Amino acid sequence: MKMKQKAVFLDRDGVINEVVYHQEMGILDSPFTADQLKILPDVGKAINLLRKQGYKVIIISNQPGLAKAHFTLDAFKKMQQKMTAGLKKQKAFVDAEYYCFHHPYGTVASYTKTCTCRKPKPGMIRTAAKEHHIDLSQSWMIGDGITDIQAGYSAGCKTILIGRMKCDLCRRMDDEDVKPEHIAPNLYKAALIITKE
Ligand SMILES: [Zn+2]
Repeated sequence: MKMKQKAVFLDRDGVINEVVYHQEMGILDSPFTADQLKILPDVGKAINLLRKQGYKVIIISNQPGLAKAHFTLDAFKKMQQKMTAGLKKQKAFVDAEYYCFHHPYGTVASYTKTCTCRKPKPGMIRTAAKEHHIDLSQSWMIGDGITDIQAGYSAGCKTILIGRMKCDLCRRMDDEDVKPEHIAPNLYKAALIITKE
């Protein structure tokens, strides 16, 4: 039997790439085009630091923009290629990517449903663990939203919230009894915390 590995699961938007302000809609959301996808600084450095410590690095991301008709699968794939190229420029890559394209109240019928993969549900993390022989109790989920922390916790991982010290989400975290192990301002700082555990 193969030895189980440890992993760091990463949310994508706000962790690997910038979130985008869509002026015409007045919302902060994921990029809708490859042009809008911009990799954050030091992400490659963070991923390589984690890999050096023996972690697999796996993206776990809700992308309901498909269900909401913000972009097509083709446009999504172009964003994915841009991300891969951007990471490569920083001499890094991820081991696997899992995306949920669904939303319960979408406008595109084929993606509109209540699924088991959409965070805060731990479906994608569990699937990734099965497919990559990962010991979830040795693993981490890092994200910038409460649902990332909830999904990680439900899967049995430790969690780090990417956020500012002046915590916008703290009130809501109290209300929903969500407690990340740590809060870090960016992925590189989060990676440093993990290497010191
Ligand atoms: Zn889903």
